[in-house]
Amino acid sequence: MQLHLLGTKGGPAIRTGGPSPTAHLLAVGSKTYVIDCGLGVTRGLVETGMKLQDLETILITHHHSDHTLEWGPLIHTAWTAGLARPVMTYAPPPMHQLKAGFLAAMDFDIRTRIADEGRPDLAGLMGITEYGPGLVFDDGVVRVSALRNVHPPITQSYALRFEAEGRVVVFSGDTAFLPELADFARDADVLVHEAMYGPGVDALVQRVKNGTRLKEHLLASHTLAEDVGRIATLSGARHLVLNHLVPADDPSVTAADYERAVRTTFGGALTVGRDGLIIDIVSS
Ligand SMILES: [Zn+2]
Ligand SMILES: [Zn+2]
Repeated sequence: MQLHLLGTKGGPAIRTGGPSPTAHLLAVGSKTYVIDCGLGVTRGLVETGMKLQDLETILITHHHSDHTLEWGPLIHTAWTAGLARPVMTYAPPPMHQLKAGFLAAMDFDIRTRIADEGRPDLAGLMGITEYGPGLVFDDGVVRVSALRNVHPPITQSYALRFEAEGRVVVFSGDTAFLPELADFARDADVLVHEAMYGPGVDALVQRVKNGTRLKEHLLASHTLAEDVGRIATLSGARHLVLNHLVPADDPSVTAADYERAVRTTFGGALTVGRDGLIIDIVSS
């Protein structure tokens, strides 16, 4: 099993030389699972060596654009690359609305390619299952379950637990400090948790116009690095991987800063995520 970090920044903006918004690929044998589809996911997947026509399963943690913006473009690009089988997307509501809106926005192109290039109807290749808390699916290779996390004002936002090959990988999704996540991530081989660096957030909010509102949002709906370490320690996770970094592209905030903050509360294996990083998860 291999985990590829394709996009590791929190929030939708991108900047010169900086990382991309959230996306991951979990490869289990010959099966692939894409978790979140922030801007850049298509390029990130191609750079792993994956053929887009092999795209099979996508999971979305919640409907903020830094997790969904490139969902439609990813499947559309796979379609123009020769996708022949439906791609299944598991996401909270309103996933059907995102599909309908994307198909409407691209209607002219889709109809043109069907008529001109003889392609199958794209709508039929976009399978959707809307999920809530509990079991999301078990395809015989991977069993995925969801825990509702705390990410106001969005209520349909989830952490995801993957069990495969005797191994466990848990994604926190976007969440405020959530002690229940420690149980959900019990004995995870890899816990991928979002992280915010407090002093960096203070500098960030001073640079923007709506700073006070932004800081309120960040503190109410995301987790400070010290609290991420607490969750990892409580869960017994063997390896903590930080993603969805806020801030992610402030040159004065480095991986060492995140590491120092987490080290106050967690002593296990720790990786500060960066785009393109591959983590091997050895089978039991
Ligand atoms: Zn996000
Ligand atoms: Zn979010």
